Amino acid sequence: MSGGLRTVEDQLADVLAAVRPLPTRTAGLADGAGCVLREAAIARGGIPDFDNSAMDGFAVRFDDVATASAERPVDLAVIADLPAGTADDPHLTPGEAARIMTGSPVPSSADTIVPFEDTAGGLDDSLTTARVLAAPARRGMFVRRAHDDIRPGDTVLDAGTLLGPRQLAALAAADIARVTISESPRVVVISTGSELVEPGFPRIRGQIPESNGLLLEALSRQAGGTVIRRVHVDDGGAAFRHEIAAATTGGSRADVVITSGGVSAGAYEVVKTELGDALRFSRVAMQPGKPQAFGVLPSGTLVFGLPGNPVSAAVSFEVFVRPALLALQGRSDLRRPALRLPAAESWRTPPGRRQYLPAVVDRTDPAGWSVRPATPGGSGSHLAGALALAEAYAVVPEETAVVEPGDLIDVVLLEG
Ligand code: AMP
Ligand code: MG
Repeated sequence: MSGGLRTVEDQLADVLAAVRPLPTRTAGLADGAGCVLREAAIARGGIPDFDNSAMDGFAVRFDDVATASAERPVDLAVIADLPAGTADDPHLTPGEAARIMTGSPVPSSADTIVPFEDTAGGLDDSLTTARVLAAPARRGMFVRRAHDDIRPGDTVLDAGTLLGPRQLAALAAADIARVTISESPRVVVISTGSELVEPGFPRIRGQIPESNGLLLEALSRQAGGTVIRRVHVDDGGAAFRHEIAAATTGGSRADVVITSGGVSAGAYEVVKTELGDALRFSRVAMQPGKPQAFGVLPSGTLVFGLPGNPVSAAVSFEVFVRPALLALQGRSDLRRPALRLPAAESWRTPPGRRQYLPAVVDRTDPAGWSVRPATPGGSGSHLAGALALAEAYAVVPEETAVVEPGDLIDVVLLEG
């Protein structure tokens, strides 16, 4: 506790303690894109799987060409042609070579590749004689050795890894066709507030366009969730009760419900009124995002009651909901790494609360990045427009009261 407020760590620990990883399923690689690997992926084939050529040229016996030079070229008889995909393994006797293309298997009797560039004729006449003008630097030159990168039976990726483009390619290269991945968390997003109107619809005085729903849906997707329902309800209670009932029963059951609004200290706080006994309502030492609600319903559904201000909702998602969605999928890295960047300007921070300031990274000097607030005017949690400019959160410790230019600040980039 600090000043009657819970620490961010305590709140997050409560959340993560409630997470039970979701079931797994097996899938083809293409279906695994964006999913979390739940069992280590073991190489079936090696990378590379066989000795192969790194260059277009000639497979040779090193001893034949060890003394070759422009002044004393060595002529080899070309006895075979080895395009990519060939299964041939021609036997080379002394004085013989095989034309070979990049990626083709190196004949068992050869040990070195001479690239076309080091021969007199290059590709021309390459099926009769190879006149070698330079000795290879060493035996084995331009041969990619079998299993250089991965051996059959090696772990290519550990459980808990997110399968992105490079990971999928590595699995395919190791001849892995199916993977065990996590089910995606089923998420319901409920925005609360009698003032909310769908964007584009007519409004009367006091009404505002509903924006948190889209925000939380898109953030959930980025974190691997599947949003099965997004809805906004008024503060009366009946609609909210109905949505919670639907999200906790039957075929529309959710793993996670994310609400926004209705958790702070005012009147008409619908989440507090309806789920006051089921969730823990906390005041967390952070800015924005002080009022937080979290709990697990009897159905097992995790419920996050986020504050309604758009910046508060976005920050709360980043700090509490995203780690939970990743943990549900068995992800090993729940936190984004922070960069340490100097502040480009001065700004104030609230004493006793950790600040998560929407920020931009000044990359004018590629060798000297710095961080500044996304809005020059300050950090209002209602500034939904400024939020769109942010690419990071500057995270400033509880005990700091003012950031001075040049102070080193933790910066969490929000991409991905
Ligand atoms: P609340 O947490 O319900 O007191 O809401 C705090 C502020 O956030 C109020 O100004 C609300 O109008 C605004 N707000 C709440 N929910 C949304 C939403 N879904 N979209 C945009 N603004 C919202
Ligand atoms: Mg409200």
